[in-house]
Amino acid sequence: MTAREDATIINSLVRQALTSAQEVMGDNGLNAVLRTSGLERFIGNFPPNNLEPSIQASQYAHLNQAIEDFYGRGGKGMLRRIGKASFQYGLREQSALLGVAGVALKLLPERQRIKFILNGMADALKKSNPEVNAWIEESGDRLAYIEATCAICHSRHSETPICYLYIGSIAEAVHWATGKEYEIRETHCLAKGDEYCRFEVGDVKA
Ligand SMILES: [Zn+2]
Repeated sequence: MTAREDATIINSLVRQALTSAQEVMGDNGLNAVLRTSGLERFIGNFPPNNLEPSIQASQYAHLNQAIEDFYGRGGKGMLRRIGKASFQYGLREQSALLGVAGVALKLLPERQRIKFILNGMADALKKSNPEVNAWIEESGDRLAYIEATCAICHSRHSETPICYLYIGSIAEAVHWATGKEYEIRETHCLAKGDEYCRFEVGDVKA
């Protein structure tokens, strides 16, 4: 049994995910996927906003899979939208944890702004849950956000990267920091056998 197999998701993160999914999918959509992923106990009953263990990472991954399946071809876009809503929830509900309360980034170069918010995300996750292993990579001219404990793809297998919700959150974070729409590409994914999920900040979308 490795630490990865034991991984748990804390209440506040499940609450964040369910609130964001509800915003994007509505009650009916969310309730349907909660049923198909074995999480019906959360219907009309979100977990409290605290750091207690809530569900297994594999259950969280099931929920992501269920949303993708529920919307078919639209599933990836839906998950990205939920990821965006999730970052907005973080700004609203956890600005101190995220390190953005009262912060003005205007005078910083764009690369520093992106680093600031990505570090804020990684630190917030690690502070909330010591099991999380996430960091920022600066190699060459690209910045990347990496998590070796990604729960979205936990115990899933895929030929291609599948952590669409994470892509949405990072895209929204970078947009918040710069006011621009950057391309975010998942280059590595645990689901395809890589050591971590890696999200690279690419160019500004035309
Ligand atoms: Zn992943």
